[in-house]
Amino acid sequence: MNEEREKEEEAVEKRELIKDGKRLDGRGFEELRPIKIEVGVLKRADGSCYFELGENKVIAAVYGPKEMHPRHAQDAKMAVVKFRYNMAPFSVDDRKRPGPDRRSVEVSKVSREAFEPVIMREFYPKAAIEVYVEILQSDAGTRTAGINAASVALADAGIPMKDLVSSVAVGKIDGQVVLDLNGTEDNHGEADMPIAMVARTNTITLLQMDGHLTAEEFGRGLKLAMGACRQIYELQRAALIERFSSSSNSGSKSEKRGE
Ligand code: UDP
Repeated sequence: MNEEREKEEEAVEKRELIKDGKRLDGRGFEELRPIKIEVGVLKRADGSCYFELGENKVIAAVYGPKEMHPRHAQDAKMAVVKFRYNMAPFSVDDRKRPGPDRRSVEVSKVSREAFEPVIMREFYPKAAIEVYVEILQSDAGTRTAGINAASVALADAGIPMKDLVSSVAVGKIDGQVVLDLNGTEDNHGEADMPIAMVARTNTITLLQMDGHLTAEEFGRGLKLAMGACRQIYELQRAALIERFSSSSNSGSKSEKRGE
């Protein structure tokens, strides 16, 4: 175990997630973890994106629109969106049993629903659009990282969308409302609230809450998360613009390092 981790565990034992106005990883209350976005990283998918949020490492791949199989599951009026969120066995501290579980089925469902207002499914009757999110390394906030990655991968695949979806969590640690909880904060904090949003129209497309917030904290947290979604939206846009303006067309990178 490295020194930093030992110090973190010591502070957690003493129930101190905030010290001298800073969080254990040195961030301020309203600060995102560093973000890195790479577009078009997979050759065989129609669209793809690698997304890092702090220690979270996520790949999203999109296939389609293609013919929906089995046929009885087709929708005659619009495309069916399939969304699979999966955590790799090596992505967590204790090896995760491979395959779907209740949590991954839930995360897949809410993530798919987060895209419902933006994907123009009516353009592709009887078709399927498949989105795969693979969590390679996790440190809390994987569903938000997965949604951000999927959004960019869908755009990379050329799927018509009204806009991108951006996502982040807010929560409460040591009585303070903070942005973008890491794993330690999520495990020992009082609340965690992931949201997804269409940044341009301020439309919330996912809102979940684990733990307790007062009405005032909820309002403040929501405002904080919405502001952060706007920042993430700009990074997603920048990565896509870079991808499609580069003549090589061989993938692009966009980064935000912590201030
Ligand atoms: N986690 C884990 N094993 C699991 C599920 C989750 O270790 O089977 C960890 C993982 O690091 C994850 C964190 O717990 O990022 C928080 O999980 P949560 O269900 O709140 O979802 P997330 O915040 O990742 O969207």
